Amino acid sequence: MSPIQQVVGAVAQYQTGSAALARIEEARGLPAEPATEPAPLPGPGAEPASIAFEDVRFRYAEDLPYVHHGVTFAVPPRGMTAFVGPSGAGKTTVFSLIERFYDPDKGTIALDGRDLTDWDVSGLRSAIGYVEQDAPVLSGTLRDNLLLGNPDADEEELLRALRTTRLDTLVEKLPKGVDTLVGHRGTKLSGGERQRVAIARALLRRPRLLLLDEATSQLDAVNEAALRDTVADVARTTTVLVVAHRLSTVTMADRIVVMDAGRVRAVGTHRELVAGDPLYAELAATQFLAAEDDTRAPENV
Ligand code: ADP
Ligand code: MG
Repeated sequence: MSPIQQVVGAVAQYQTGSAALARIEEARGLPAEPATEPAPLPGPGAEPASIAFEDVRFRYAEDLPYVHHGVTFAVPPRGMTAFVGPSGAGKTTVFSLIERFYDPDKGTIALDGRDLTDWDVSGLRSAIGYVEQDAPVLSGTLRDNLLLGNPDADEEELLRALRTTRLDTLVEKLPKGVDTLVGHRGTKLSGGERQRVAIARALLRRPRLLLLDEATSQLDAVNEAALRDTVADVARTTTVLVVAHRLSTVTMADRIVVMDAGRVRAVGTHRELVAGDPLYAELAATQFLAAEDDTRAPENV
């Protein structure tokens, strides 16, 4: 690469990272507009959260069609809830509403049994770990990337997060372990590894609710198994909501919420839904991946 290309690449990488961080910071700083004084939500490390949607209607703008037409579901503390459905069904929007990037036009969303708007926004966001579909890995070492989640995390917490996400075996193979440069100018991580880094980063914040928008790209068998086991582990101690694109994730879920065109079609376990919901049975038969508008190349590992 020419020096110019290197600089352009570095700037692009920096912008991706800083835009992501700016988004987080901006989101954190958003003022709540409470009618009454918001209550402080029990923060990181407190008991896992419960979450419930009740007849939620929502559109992104007044001149746009509704994307949620009365969405209702309830999730108790702990365990794993998978959201499945065709592209555009409104799955990711569920997460955006929980994070309060937007508020519903009608209906209610309750966390720990209280309306989201009753909780202060910064407390709410610090209690939630959000792993986006294409979570960025920034330039720097693996350690740098993880500590973004919580700069105060100690070595023990770091190792635990690596173990939970099955990244410990990767770290053993890296030339400088957790201090190896990763990202644009370092060891290139695969899509599955990047998402696990993002999960580890989120776990270091000890979230009471983990929102995971699973990557749609194809994963190799090792990464697929690692992600599945990671989610299962985390769900033992935290409430986990996954927008799932893989049969391997979904079959382990405690409950599956099947969404289509802004509505919840059915809720159940994999076995119940294969027998009881034709759309679900069809999605399962195609391993869910065909339902996604995935134009990216399959992951190379
Ligand atoms: P899914 O995750 O199930 O694929 P989404 O929740 O991302 O679906 O999107 C639901 C619908 O809302 C889609 O029609 C999508 O185009 C639209 N949408 C999503 N995000 C925005 C946005 N920020 N502004 C306007 N429309 C959006
Ligand atoms: Mg989505």
